Amino acid sequence: MGRVDFSDVKHETRAFAGVTVPVSVVPRFKRQAYPTRFLFAIKGLLEGMRLTFGYLISPSKVVTRQYPENRATLKFPERYRASLKFKFDENGYQSCNGCGSCERACPNGSIILQTRKGAVTGKNEIERYIWRMDSCVLCNACVEACAFGALEMSHEFENAVYDRRLLVYTLNRYAGPTANVLLKEEDPEKRAAMMTKLDAYGGPVPMNGHALPTVRALGSPRAETKPGEGGAAS
Ligand code: SF4
Ligand code: SF4
Repeated sequence: MGRVDFSDVKHETRAFAGVTVPVSVVPRFKRQAYPTRFLFAIKGLLEGMRLTFGYLISPSKVVTRQYPENRATLKFPERYRASLKFKFDENGYQSCNGCGSCERACPNGSIILQTRKGAVTGKNEIERYIWRMDSCVLCNACVEACAFGALEMSHEFENAVYDRRLLVYTLNRYAGPTANVLLKEEDPEKRAAMMTKLDAYGGPVPMNGHALPTVRALGSPRAETKPGEGGAAS
């Protein structure tokens, strides 16, 4: 154990590669005498043991969570960010109009918007909202950039996959106009005609256009493969 006495730090100049630069020279640690170091070690040990026995006596003070056993009761701080998602109203309608502010705000290009001209409204509307979790840093810039309150950060954190191409999501459930536009149309049939349900909602959208390999579910038996055949991803 040692410490630096900052009153002993010397400021001087030294030549490096022909250039004179100012440097601060820190003296070597002053090591404590052996008995003092021994007492510090014992003190640290006792402090650690006090904490451990304190948790034994008062389990309610334990901060470590027993995940995944506590999955059902797991609580997160309100501002915890685990994934990006669309907000949907009680009808399942979205507020995104495809304006592109979030896409421009994203520092990583993790948002890719595909828009279309609505066949009924003739206005710009979202076709597919692609979010690349594989490059997202959950900075929240997209949520803050959205003036229509269409996005939010979710606490859904169990997103581990075996193939990073599976970390590409479609966030919208349907291609079509926003809730405001849909609710102005009172005829449910006409309203439904303005929307196109997305088969791949929430699912992977392979960026390379190829089909993803089948991913074997955890715990399921390994498929028999003949020599020369490719097996399912494990
Ligand atoms: S999520 Fe918001 S900012 Fe992004 S395109 Fe939709 S309306 Fe615009
Ligand atoms: S959270 Fe940040 S990195 Fe992720 S999509 Fe939004 S803006 Fe991009």
